[in-house]
Amino acid sequence: MNTRQQSKCIYSWFGGAKKSDQLLRTFQYRGLLIKSKRSLTEKCILVGEFVLVEGENADQPFVAKLLKLYENGSQEKRAIVQWFSRIEEVPLNKRKLLQREVSPQEIFLEKSPGYDTDINVETIISNVEVIPLALEEAVPLRSNRKQTFFVRESWDGKCFKPLSPGLLSELKEPEKKKKAGSPGPLTDCQVFPTNSICSLKLETDRVTRSAMKMKNIHMEIESRHSASKSSLSKERHSQRVANGINTPGARKKLELNSPMKSRSKLTGCDVLELLSDDCDAVEILERSATKRTVTFTQILGSPPKIPRTNGEPDSPLTIGGDWSKLAETIRISPYKRGQDSSQKTKNLHGRDDGMCLAEEQVLKTRNLEMTPRSHRKCVQKTTIRIAEQLLILNTSEQDQEDDYLPSTDCSDSSSSEEEESMVPCTPKRKTRSNVTLRTPKSLRKPSDITPAKAPKKATEPRTPKTPCNATPRIPIRNQATEKPANVLEEARLRLHISAIPDSLPCREEEFQDIYNFVESKLIDGTGGCMYISGVPGTGKTATVHEVIRCLQQAAEKDELPSFQFIEINGMKLTDPRQAYVQILQLLTGQKVTAAHAAELLAKLFCTPGPKRKTTVLMVDELDLLWTRKQDVMYNLFDWPTKKQAKLIILAIANTMDLPERIMMNRVASRLGLTRMSFQPYTYKQLQQIISSRLNHIKAFEEDAIQLVSRKVAALSGDARRCLDICRRSTEICEFSSQKTASHLVTMAHVMKAIDEMFSSPYINSIRSASLHEQMFLKAVIAEFRRSGLEEATVQQIYHHHVALCRIEGLRIPTVSEIMAICSRLGACRFLLVESNNKYLHLRVRLNISQDDVMYALKQD
Ligand code: ATP
Ligand code: MG
Repeated sequence: MNTRQQSKCIYSWFGGAKKSDQLLRTFQYRGLLIKSKRSLTEKCILVGEFVLVEGENADQPFVAKLLKLYENGSQEKRAIVQWFSRIEEVPLNKRKLLQREVSPQEIFLEKSPGYDTDINVETIISNVEVIPLALEEAVPLRSNRKQTFFVRESWDGKCFKPLSPGLLSELKEPEKKKKAGSPGPLTDCQVFPTNSICSLKLETDRVTRSAMKMKNIHMEIESRHSASKSSLSKERHSQRVANGINTPGARKKLELNSPMKSRSKLTGCDVLELLSDDCDAVEILERSATKRTVTFTQILGSPPKIPRTNGEPDSPLTIGGDWSKLAETIRISPYKRGQDSSQKTKNLHGRDDGMCLAEEQVLKTRNLEMTPRSHRKCVQKTTIRIAEQLLILNTSEQDQEDDYLPSTDCSDSSSSEEEESMVPCTPKRKTRSNVTLRTPKSLRKPSDITPAKAPKKATEPRTPKTPCNATPRIPIRNQATEKPANVLEEARLRLHISAIPDSLPCREEEFQDIYNFVESKLIDGTGGCMYISGVPGTGKTATVHEVIRCLQQAAEKDELPSFQFIEINGMKLTDPRQAYVQILQLLTGQKVTAAHAAELLAKLFCTPGPKRKTTVLMVDELDLLWTRKQDVMYNLFDWPTKKQAKLIILAIANTMDLPERIMMNRVASRLGLTRMSFQPYTYKQLQQIISSRLNHIKAFEEDAIQLVSRKVAALSGDARRCLDICRRSTEICEFSSQKTASHLVTMAHVMKAIDEMFSSPYINSIRSASLHEQMFLKAVIAEFRRSGLEEATVQQIYHHHVALCRIEGLRIPTVSEIMAICSRLGACRFLLVESNNKYLHLRVRLNISQDDVMYALKQD
C-alpha cells in the first residue's frame, strides 16, 4: 500500500484509554483499528503484534513490533515500536559478516542505536506474521505466505548475534497468544509498561455491534478479537488443552527442539529416544496439524494459510522438513554427548552397540515404511535418513577413535561395506552417500577430505570449527610492498598529492567548525547544510574527509548517533542530474532514471520516514552541478531544511556566492546556510604543511622549502601546487644525485622544478602578448580578488584596467578597444567570454589557472 492509499485510511483506537501520564496528558491504548475508505475493510492491530510500516522504498516497508500505542496532549496518535531490519537495510560491507545466504524473508531484530522508535500510527500499513527461529533452524526455503518473516538473529550495527532464548520466547509470545486467542502481549523490548487489559468481552461486543450496524457494507474485521472469533479460538484452545497439546501444530517444529531440548544440544541418544517414540510423535503431529488449519485460517487479513495436505513436503512447516532439519542438525553437531552417560559410553566405545542401535532404528523405520498410510511417508523418509545418519556417525566416530588413520579411503573401507550390508539396497543409498560427503570436518583429518568429500558450502558455516561471526579479513599479501630505497624516494612518496597525510596542519579551526556543525545536527537528529568554499588546493576535500572519518569513529564507539555517509562529486558526473541517480542509488540501492530519482528523493526527504538514520551527504565540486533551471543545486540546498529529512549536506565549491546566484538573496538567507570559507595558505602555512608531510625526513634544505612556499603563496596559496613542485624537485634531485653524491633538495632543484611547471605554452604566449592584453589579464585577476568570485563583467574589469594604466602611465584604451582586447584574449582561449551582445556587460572567466597568469606576468 503506498502513501496515497494509506492516506485513505482512518485510524482509530481499539480498546479504552488508560491515562499514563497525568502531566503530559498521555493515554495508552490496546489496539489500533485501520479502516480503509476504499475497500471498506477494517483491520485491528494489537500491541505486541508485528506490523509493516511505510518505508523509503514502497516495495519494502519496514517491519516492526508494536510495543505501545498512545495519544499525546496534541491528540496525535503515536506508537512505540521495536524495529526489525531486512538484510537490505544492513550496510553492504557488514552483510558479509553473516557468511551465509540470507533469505529475503529473513529479518533481524534491530538493536542499532539512533533509530526513532516513536512513530505516527498513520505510517502503519498492516499487520504481518513474524516467526522467530532458533539459529540452527533454517529459514523455510519456500513460503506461500508472502507476508511472513523469520527472525533468527539480532543486528546491533556492528555484528549479528543469535537471539537469546529469553528473547526468542518473548518474540514467540504473540504467536502463542494468537493461537490461544488472547490479546497481544507486551514484551521485554518494550519501553513503557502496558495497559492493563480491559474487558475483552466488552470491546469485542462493541466491535461486533458496530459491524452489524453497517448494513449493506461488507466489512471484514480482521481482528481475531471479534466476538465470534474470540469465542471460537477460546473453544479451540480449551480443546487443545483437553487433548493435552499445548503448542499448536504449526509450532511443532519448535516444540521438538525447545524448550526441553535445544536443537543444538540434541544428541544422538536424544534422537534415538525420539525415534523410538516416533509413532507417538507422528500421532501428535497429525493431530496438531489438523488443529492448526482450524486455529489460523480464522484470522482474516493475515496471509492465507497453507492448508495442510498430507505428503506436502514443500510447505515451510511440514513435518518432513522439520525432521530433515533435525537430521541435518545431527550431521552438524553430533559430538555433544547426551545426559545419559551409559548411553554415551556405549556410543563412544562400542562401535557395534552404536551400530546396532542405529540398525534397529533403520529396521524400525523400514517397518514404518511398510504401513499403508501414505501421509506418514514424509516422516518416515526423514526418520530413515536420521537413522542412517546415526549409523554413519557412529562409524565416523569409531574411525576417529581408530587413531585417526590418515587413509583417504576410510569412509569407503570395511566399515562402509558393513553399513551397506546393513542398509537394504533401496533408492535411499543415494541419500546415504550424500550424507557421507557431509561428514563434519572435525571428525576427519584434513587429509581425509578429498575434494569430493569436502562439505557442502551451505553447511560449512555451521560446522563446529567455523565461528558464526568470524571477522572478514583482507587477504594477506603474497609480496611485501617495496620499501623506499633512500630518503629522496621516501620524500617523493610522502609528498605525492594522493598520499593520505598523517595530519592536516593549519586547518584545525576549519576542522573543528565542520565537526561541531555535523556533530550537533547528529545529536539533535536534525538536518542542515554547510556551504564550504575556497580556491583550489586549500584542503576543503581533505578536511571534510577527515571530519567524517573522526565522526564515524565516534559513532562506532557509540559516542554519537550512527549515521549514513554518502558522497558525490560533480566532476565525476556526466550530467548534473545524474546527481539524483547517484544519491538515490547510494541511499537505497535503487537504480532509476534521473527524473524518477528526483521524484523519489523529493518524496523521501519531504515525507516523514519513521525509521530514518541521519544521512551525511558530501557534495564535492558543487560548481559543476550548474543547470539552466538550477534545480539540482536548489534541491540540494532545500532538502536539508525539511525537518523529516534528517539530511546534513556538506557542499564544497570554489565559488563563494553560489547559493546567492542560484536563489534570490531572500530565499538564500531563509535556507539558513552555514558558511565556511577556506582561505589560501600563507607561506608559513605551506612551509608547515611540507614539513609535516616530510615528517622529519631530511630530504630538503630549509631554504628550498621556504622558496617553494613563498613562490606558491604569492601566486595562489594552493597546497596541491606546492606539493607538486616539491615532488618534482625531489625527482630532479634524485636524477642529479646519480651523478653527484648529494641527497638533499636544494634551491636550484626547486627553481628548476618551478620553471618546468610554469613553462606551459599558455605562459609563453602570455609573456609575448601585447602590453594592454597583459594589463587586461592583470585587471581580471584584480577584479576576481576584489569580489572573491571567479567571474566578472567587462565593465568591472575595465575599471581596474583604467586604474592600472594610470599607475603605469599608459594611454587609457577606449571602450571599443577594450572590447577588442577581450575578444582577442577569448580567441586565444585565455578567457571564456559569453557569446552574446551584452557589450560591456559580457561575463568573462579565466580559462587558465590564476597561478599561471600571475607567474607569467610576474616574470617581467
Ligand atoms: P579543490 O577545490 O581543487 O578540490 P581542495 O580545497 O578540495 O581543492 P584538497 O583536495 O583537499 O583541496 O587538497 C589538495 C591536496 O593538498 C591534497 O593532496 C591534500 O592532502 C593537500 N593538503 C591540503 N591541505 C593540507 C594540509 N593542511 N595539510 C596537509 N596536506 C594538505
Ligand atoms: Mg576538492
